[in-house]
Amino acid sequence: MFLVIGLLVSVFRGFFRARKIQPNGFRWRTFRNEMFFAVISLTVSATVIGYLMHLVTSKGWAVFNHAPASGWVVGLEYALYFLGFDTYFYWFHRLMHKEPIYSWVHKLHHYSVSPNVLTTLSVNPLESLINGGFVPLFITLFTVHQSTMALITPTNIIMGLYVHCGYEFFPRWWHKSWATKWFITATFHDQHHRYFNFNYGGYTTIWDFICGTVRPKFLADFEQLKARARRPLTPTAPLPQPE
Ligand SMILES: [Zn+2]
Ligand SMILES: [Zn+2]
Repeated sequence: MFLVIGLLVSVFRGFFRARKIQPNGFRWRTFRNEMFFAVISLTVSATVIGYLMHLVTSKGWAVFNHAPASGWVVGLEYALYFLGFDTYFYWFHRLMHKEPIYSWVHKLHHYSVSPNVLTTLSVNPLESLINGGFVPLFITLFTVHQSTMALITPTNIIMGLYVHCGYEFFPRWWHKSWATKWFITATFHDQHHRYFNFNYGGYTTIWDFICGTVRPKFLADFEQLKARARRPLTPTAPLPQPE
């Protein structure tokens, strides 16, 4: 029984270790600071964005379509949000990399060179208001179905956590296939934190490709990372002892 549990734990740890984007990047000091700023940012932005959402819905500026919607209508509305947010995020993000806005607003988020899930929330409250302000603006400009809204909120949370998770779970062909290379991976955003002036996209790589801001070595690094994950885990397993 203990042997089975031990084996499972070692396979589990090996699985994650092989997929860690920056194997030696974790710093407790950074993590502690991120925790502190995450609490502040979450409190301030949840209050203000909650108030904004209440304002636009209670004043009737934003209304939801409560009628049942077919799958493709919800899909189209969702695609509009997805690409709309991606465009909004990309350009505001690039603006936030310009001084003095960088020092005032965005620098805090770049405190972590090797992101982890807490980095998602470790942002200046002004930055979370800029990014979080998109949903109230979007539902004011477009009347979407309530079922679309039910997809938008989790997307926002999951994408933020996913791009900062520090592990690469997507397959090796992801950034090569024409069908998938437009959607960002954790490595894509991880490299934004590590190398700073590249890979600004939030949901897709589209604007980075159009504007030439994809890190030139990104594809090679992604390949290398995935090759590491494919290697058998023997280096971490105990070596056989001589008789
Ligand atoms: Zn940035
Ligand atoms: Zn980030």
